[in-house]
Amino acid sequence: MEVRRTAPVKLVVPDEYHDDLHETADQFRYCANQASDYCWDNTSYKNCVTSNSKARDALYDRLKDETDLNANLVQEAIRRAVHAVDSGVDRWKKGKRTNKPEFTSWSIVFDKRSATFYRNKISLATVNGRVEFEFELPADSPTPYEEYVLSEDYEFRTSTLQYDQASNEFYFHVTTRKVDDDGEAVEIEVSDDTGHQTVLGIDLGVNSLAVASTGTFWSGDEYDHWIHEFEKRRAEMQQRGTQAAHNALLRLGKRERAWRKQYIHTVANEIVDEAVAHDCDVIVFEDLTDIRERLPHADWHHMWAFRRLVEYVEYKAPEQGVAVEQVDPDHTSQRCSRTDCGFTHEDNRDGEQFKCLKCGYEVNADYNGAKNIALRYMRKRTHSLRSSPMSGSADAPVDVRITGGTQNGNGYQSV
Ligand SMILES: [Zn+2]
Repeated sequence: MEVRRTAPVKLVVPDEYHDDLHETADQFRYCANQASDYCWDNTSYKNCVTSNSKARDALYDRLKDETDLNANLVQEAIRRAVHAVDSGVDRWKKGKRTNKPEFTSWSIVFDKRSATFYRNKISLATVNGRVEFEFELPADSPTPYEEYVLSEDYEFRTSTLQYDQASNEFYFHVTTRKVDDDGEAVEIEVSDDTGHQTVLGIDLGVNSLAVASTGTFWSGDEYDHWIHEFEKRRAEMQQRGTQAAHNALLRLGKRERAWRKQYIHTVANEIVDEAVAHDCDVIVFEDLTDIRERLPHADWHHMWAFRRLVEYVEYKAPEQGVAVEQVDPDHTSQRCSRTDCGFTHEDNRDGEQFKCLKCGYEVNADYNGAKNIALRYMRKRTHSLRSSPMSGSADAPVDVRITGGTQNGNGYQSV
């Protein structure tokens, strides 16, 4: 395994270039999905195409014709699909559940020929030709050019451009590879149990029953509405006080329990599906022990729903090869989930809105919580890997699945 390092650098993108980048991302995704269609075969992994040159020979001319992408972007899109199909075939061979890779997130892969670094800016190939963007950097920090391109220890590799929908900002994720004095890639040994993990964080709450770090919400409105309806009916029957009303009350109780279970089963299934769709290995919840104290507005039926939801997910996820973990929930709602910030303060949160008092990051509070839950698991795991003499690696291979891509908190990524 190579040692890779990635760092997100924010780009200054004037409004008039937003459409160019969005269109480039759309066409890139189109090429990747076309390549995935070509390479994947549901009947047997033996029929899947995992050779990049074979896929390129079959697809390149057509995709180059159909899109406004330059040659390198088309090739990177094909390569991305082949790589994903190859991972899928690996899972399939091991008997794990797998599907045709589908590319839905906003992400464009640039290689050395489609992205050129200058001291303070970068030039990127887009559907409208080359466009230059400046980096938005904190004062006194080294420019990406100084840090990565001039570094002797690291070599610039393909990088991805990503878009953060919540803040309407573009980030160039610079990826570099560690090299030795001769310029050869440094290889490290990683045992199976330190294998790359991708994490889905889930925040439970009253406004939304559950929110995933991918930005998917499960509203609690329908659940609350029906619980309320059942309560009204129960109150009516209790007032009558007859034997018939008593029997009806028992039947109503049965129906309500069945309905609640069914509802939570559906949400649990959808959470597991969300993890599988984003190729996550772990679903992480907050530890529920003190949830009553943390959520003073939650009713008994919310408590019931949270506990059942975790229980059902714990039951269903392993069938899909997905693990379930819990982390200490302290301050996950007050902490800024931007990995370069992490500022924690109770005034960061105002009802459903989170706004970091330090860096100004504004986002839905439950989504912020879901990211923090996933990040906390990642840090915990990073720490235990580092302190384990067997791991052989200081680089914890854990990513967090977030809206539009992945995030890793320590700036390191192993591929
Ligand atoms: Zn912040």
